[in-house]
Amino acid sequence: MRLSKYSIGTGDRFAHQAEAQLRACVQAMGKGVEVIPVWNKSNREHTLIGSEPRSTRQAADAAVKALHWQKQYFCDADHITLQTVDRFLETCDFYTIDVADSIGQLTTPANVEAFVERHPELLQRVQLEGVDESFEITKEDLRTTTQKFLAAVMKAAEVYRKIENSKGADNFIAEISTDETDRAQTPAELLIILAAIADEHVPIQTIAPKFSGRFNKGVDYVGDVAEFESEMALDVAAIGWAIRQYGLPDNLKLSIHSGSDKFSIYPCIHRTMERFSAGVHLKTAGTTWLEELIGLAEAGGDGLKLAKEIYAEAFRRQDELCAPYATVVDIRRGELPSPEEVRDWSSEQYTSALRHVPASAAYNRSFRQLMHVAFKIAAKMGDRYLDLLRQNEAVIARNVTENLYERHIMPVFLGEQP
Ligand SMILES: [Zn+2]
Repeated sequence: MRLSKYSIGTGDRFAHQAEAQLRACVQAMGKGVEVIPVWNKSNREHTLIGSEPRSTRQAADAAVKALHWQKQYFCDADHITLQTVDRFLETCDFYTIDVADSIGQLTTPANVEAFVERHPELLQRVQLEGVDESFEITKEDLRTTTQKFLAAVMKAAEVYRKIENSKGADNFIAEISTDETDRAQTPAELLIILAAIADEHVPIQTIAPKFSGRFNKGVDYVGDVAEFESEMALDVAAIGWAIRQYGLPDNLKLSIHSGSDKFSIYPCIHRTMERFSAGVHLKTAGTTWLEELIGLAEAGGDGLKLAKEIYAEAFRRQDELCAPYATVVDIRRGELPSPEEVRDWSSEQYTSALRHVPASAAYNRSFRQLMHVAFKIAAKMGDRYLDLLRQNEAVIARNVTENLYERHIMPVFLGEQP
């Protein structure tokens, strides 16, 4: 199994929008650009919603069948660990192995020394192709970095082998993610991580390092855009070097866990892909659920009423809802409207506060972030929520497709602004 050059990870919390999401990839095909859909859902999401990985697979299969999609598609067990991988073994064929928790864990001095001895190439001047920068890694730096990451990579290899034993090596795509940690990895660190991954014979096809800047859920990038672009270029160049040096899969590419909607860096991502003829896996978060809310609010009547009700409860429970996402949400309480105020909103007021159109004066980033983490409330409503999704399918699907195609696929993969 070999992942194509361009792929997009999308979330579908309630497993009702797979077809509308796939339609965005169909639209890209219509423009001559193949963007492979990957439906990602983490163990955390399944647990908060009370769903099983099987539901993601069924929704994906049904969408592919309905739209006669002939290309690849995958279901991604997102951010899994040794403890959580089991429930995903049967139905997923893409595994994002998360080892952020093991970064910094100690490994034996013998392991570190053996790694340093095995990799004299890292102690010579490393000149990456396509960038001006070169590195000099000292033996001391190499030891320190190896100490920091080796245990994590060995842990990832353990998870990988568990999946391999269950599914067979050729039947899934493996990604290693180190993005959910406190500090961005430098290109030199990435090289060392990739060398360790190759040593462990883990044939990853995507890797998700952490970049500088903030990648808050559902809202734009907060950080230095130019710095992101040079960081991404160095990472892509480092990956190219590691492919040649260590025989890692030649389609190995960056996976950018965007948390969705990093509109300001999308043009940088596109430019960097062009510059290096590189591919990217763009992983978005579950913002499709916000398009469901937008669709319900747009529909008016009971849909709008329910959307307001969800906000009122989210407002009341904001501390609890934000807790699992503490490092990736940044809500300014003063920006949140009171539930009383929202109760009087029209469809237009609700949708324009929530819809991510940065140039619109009515767009409210705090409102959007709170609703992003409020899906648990809709999950608890059960059929009441799902019935309204079904009743308003057309208007919701239009919003889902338009969002994914115009705001994500177009700028990243086609280099076009909506
Ligand atoms: Zn991530």
